Amino acid sequence: MNNKVILVVLDGLNHQVAHECMGYLNALIEQDRATLYPIISELPSMSRPLYECLLTGVTPAQSGIVNNDIVRLSHHSSVFSLAKQASLTTAAAAYHWMSELYNIAPYNAVRDRFTQDPSLNIQHGCFYHLDHYPDEMLFLDAENLRQQHQPDFLLIHPMNIDDAGHKFGLDSSQYRNSARRADIILSNYVDVWLQAGYQIMITSDHGMNNDKSHGGILPEERAVPLFVIGEHFSHQPTTMKQTDICGNVCQLLGLTDHDKSYNQDLLIKKPERVIKQSSSINQTVQECK
Ligand SMILES: [Zn+2]
Repeated sequence: MNNKVILVVLDGLNHQVAHECMGYLNALIEQDRATLYPIISELPSMSRPLYECLLTGVTPAQSGIVNNDIVRLSHHSSVFSLAKQASLTTAAAAYHWMSELYNIAPYNAVRDRFTQDPSLNIQHGCFYHLDHYPDEMLFLDAENLRQQHQPDFLLIHPMNIDDAGHKFGLDSSQYRNSARRADIILSNYVDVWLQAGYQIMITSDHGMNNDKSHGGILPEERAVPLFVIGEHFSHQPTTMKQTDICGNVCQLLGLTDHDKSYNQDLLIKKPERVIKQSSSINQTVQECK
């Protein structure tokens, strides 16, 4: 059974905009190949605190990563560290704050932009530090990492949707169109990734408001999407928490030795009946002996 996972974090993508503007992902939903779950982000609805939440399952108030200016390594186990411990291969094409949380802080672009180091939590990395670094390029970076290293876990984290939101606001054609562009880019990759044996989760850290910012408790700042694509998902109704995403990725990766919370209803049920049957058969065999 294949246990590889791609987690796409489309930075700053509001749930309603994702639902209304992403035609390709909606096509997969209409064909019963994908499911969209709404998620209410943890607080503050801000990037670095919620990267830590997505990758460790720990809320900002508990992790201490409570604003964007806290530049230090994470104090918690993450999808990256747990996967590395289990001898899985990790990779990320992501904003440089991911490198600072899980590899080395502060970020040094010359040293860290291209990372190849099996001893680090993110073993294969391509990091960027300009918010307008084109999503198209970022997805190419990610696909290059995937083809070169066949990672068990790949994080893909483009920034252009958030960047458009900060320049033009939630209710703007530019913000919506950046979501549409991300959807088109994804349409070029999803089937390739599925054929390569990946389960795919597409979500966001936080949403956006009309003040061209985010951080507070407004519904539009907190409502983010979670699209799931792949045969290991139940595609049944359930309520997903942002803090469960980390644990669900760990479950999909087949990591058993983790203490992260997760939502079992998001995943296909383990074939318990078969296991019980086979153990009772073993029992019978032993008794016969
Ligand atoms: Zn932002």
